[in-house]
Amino acid sequence: MYIRKQRLLTPGPTPLYPPALHAMMASDVHHRTEEFRSIYRAALADLREVFGTLNDVLCISASGTGAMDAAVSNLFSRGDKVIVCSAGKFGERWVEITRAYGLDATVLDAPYGDVVTPDRVEAALKAEPGTRGVLIQGSESSTGAEHDVESIGKLVQKTDAIFVVDAITGLGTMPLSIQDWGLDLVIGGSQKAFMIPPGLAFLSVSEKAWKHRETADLPHYYFDLKKEKKNADQGESTWTPATSLILALAEALKYVKRIGMANLIENARMLATATRDAAGALDLQLFASRPGSSVTAIKPPAGMDSSVIVKGFKQNFGAIITGGQGSMKNEIFRLAHLGYFDISDMFSVIAGLELILRANGHRVELGKGVAAVQRVWETSNQV
Ligand SMILES: *Cc1c(COP(=O)(O)O)cnc(C)c1O
Repeated sequence: MYIRKQRLLTPGPTPLYPPALHAMMASDVHHRTEEFRSIYRAALADLREVFGTLNDVLCISASGTGAMDAAVSNLFSRGDKVIVCSAGKFGERWVEITRAYGLDATVLDAPYGDVVTPDRVEAALKAEPGTRGVLIQGSESSTGAEHDVESIGKLVQKTDAIFVVDAITGLGTMPLSIQDWGLDLVIGGSQKAFMIPPGLAFLSVSEKAWKHRETADLPHYYFDLKKEKKNADQGESTWTPATSLILALAEALKYVKRIGMANLIENARMLATATRDAAGALDLQLFASRPGSSVTAIKPPAGMDSSVIVKGFKQNFGAIITGGQGSMKNEIFRLAHLGYFDISDMFSVIAGLELILRANGHRVELGKGVAAVQRVWETSNQV
């Protein structure tokens, strides 16, 4: 019996930033006091800075899906024509939400692992000039694929439609130039690159999106973005907020600002590159045709079920990684890079992967994958 430290290595929840966790212990605070208002105001200002926008950035107490729901219920009307780009389980969530609210959704879907290309969006916008919105994932965490948000945003920008981006794993892993690319609504979640537990979601709202809000008629109550904005301007949230998480967020944002959003993105990019190189060195194939930096989805060797690898990590190394969702369940395993991950995490994950593969009959030379990770670190001039 050896010590096995528990390690949370999933694409959400992600590893926690310790000072943010410590900050949560001060949560015997009342949310309608000046003490809390000053913390909340600072957190909202810092959020805006790390989102890199002058648009309003709002915070709600919900998991990421709550913000997806709020985006639809606040910005559209029953029967509105929208285009949903769906390339995985989270794209399917957009389809379900838009249908639940009675929107008229044209779904552009791509097989799992692929992406919806800008030319398809361009054609769909041409075919339906009355389109009110285009919805997409920046990073589709279920497959590890990344959409070309810049090109699609610039197409949508030229129309009357608003561009709604689930950037829940895109923020902090890919550049998102909110204003230049016309990203009208951008959604983030606390348990992803923000390094804190689940329970907060963020939305940046453009002028164009607020204009849509004026004519939108779908019913909503708890998630009322206009009310939230009015209250946020006073340093308040509409309802009792998740105070402990906001204390954690304030602390984590100080850290993200200190290292810089561009460096956080570069960190994820470097770790994703190292993981892809290691997969290649171990003769494993990637699942996504256009892989992003939030998470790398890898196919197990032929004949091996990916759940063997997921279980192997838990049993041997106390590490929680994820397999696939839905029909991808046994077809892939996913290694995350977003937020508080570093190169040492990658050394140990790839070393563990080599051992698990060998124990299950896949011939690999020990150290081959780890060496690929080491090479990426060396060429990033860090040693
Ligand atoms: C995690 C995630 C969500 C939100 O899921 P919740 O469980 O509601 O937080 C949405 N989209 C993507 C791409 C995600 O990775």
